[in-house]
Amino acid sequence: MEHFIDEESTWLAHNYHPLDVVIRSGHGAWVEDTEGDRYLDCLAGYSAVNFGHTNDRLVARATEQMGRLTMISRAFRNDQLGPLARELATLCEAEMVLPMNTGAEAVETAIKTARAWGYRVKGVPEDRANIIVMGSNFHGRTTTVISFSDDDDARRDFGPYTQGFRQATFGNVASVERLVDPNTVAVLTEPIQGEAGVIIPPDDFMPGLRELCSRNNVLLIADEIQSGLGRTGTTLACDLWGVKPDLMTLGKALGGGIVPVSAVVGRRDVLGVLGPGQHGSTFGGNPLSAAVAREVVQILAEGKPQANVRRLAPQMRRGLESMEGIEHFTHVGLWSGVTIPEELGTGRDLCERLAAHGVLAKDTHGSTVRLSPPLTVTSEDVEFMLTGLAAALADL
Ligand code: PLP
Repeated sequence: MEHFIDEESTWLAHNYHPLDVVIRSGHGAWVEDTEGDRYLDCLAGYSAVNFGHTNDRLVARATEQMGRLTMISRAFRNDQLGPLARELATLCEAEMVLPMNTGAEAVETAIKTARAWGYRVKGVPEDRANIIVMGSNFHGRTTTVISFSDDDDARRDFGPYTQGFRQATFGNVASVERLVDPNTVAVLTEPIQGEAGVIIPPDDFMPGLRELCSRNNVLLIADEIQSGLGRTGTTLACDLWGVKPDLMTLGKALGGGIVPVSAVVGRRDVLGVLGPGQHGSTFGGNPLSAAVAREVVQILAEGKPQANVRRLAPQMRRGLESMEGIEHFTHVGLWSGVTIPEELGTGRDLCERLAAHGVLAKDTHGSTVRLSPPLTVTSEDVEFMLTGLAAALADL
């Protein structure tokens, strides 16, 4: 094990600070390290592994496609991409799909699309478009995306920054309304802020944004990259409030934890503004990614992961409610941000104790730890997670 840790420390850029467990295999919600120790994976690849590690259906679909065709590029057509677009749009009750690879790329794509829509359809004067974003947002790591972050670690020393963003307060519609002017083309928000610590807005926030955007001819863009695809017990987090955004970004679980797949999904008259040569990606929409994403869409269309989340969410909530040593927690579906009193330690300290009790989790900020196991966990797994958390808290 030490050997792998040494190699990573020597040869890898230090842009992460991983726990010192070296994972070599995984199935379902469980992974095994090089020492043969097993852990319940309560990070699930930052929600990329919503359907469990080495999911039989997804591996079979990927393997079959890998033997046939993996990459052709969008210079030509392939027999997986059209069906994926139709099936994904249908799942999301949307009209058009633009496939990319990573989450940040999908967000960049949504921003470019909204700006182009602003100039070409809304009639915003050249280079004057603005987009309203939220405080404590997380939308990825590219230079434009970190330009509108308020996380000092994410931003510092990476300027000069991209212009054209205004920051409102997450959860507060009035703070957004104050920033809207005739050149506002979009409001971009996570329906639930993941990296900020699983922050759930008041129930009037997303419906309020929907109304505000419609009234002002502004696009509502929901970043569902972490919140979407079953995590909340609904297919999309926006479904919790019955809100339909104009565009949404999807990623992470869309690739089944096998391939990076992301997409912008939304209105035809908005995504339709992009013409040939104006946007693209070498790997975006490749047949391997499309085939895996089709299976993901099929799994979600059948609804079992969402139903399992709804079944287990009350158990998770009850367990957290009765847990001693927590300062506060947020919770929806199989997703929780657990904050411990600062004097007890950092989120990192808690994650190290959790690992010692067989539970892998990741701190978000300060003393907050995110719990987001695969959506395929059993009731026994949830109990294991809660017992591990109680034991880890007692160790602090
Ligand atoms: N948007 C949200 C809401 C996210 O949580 C993330 C990643 O955590 C991203 C975008 C960026 O995705 P990626 O890391 O695939 O670029």
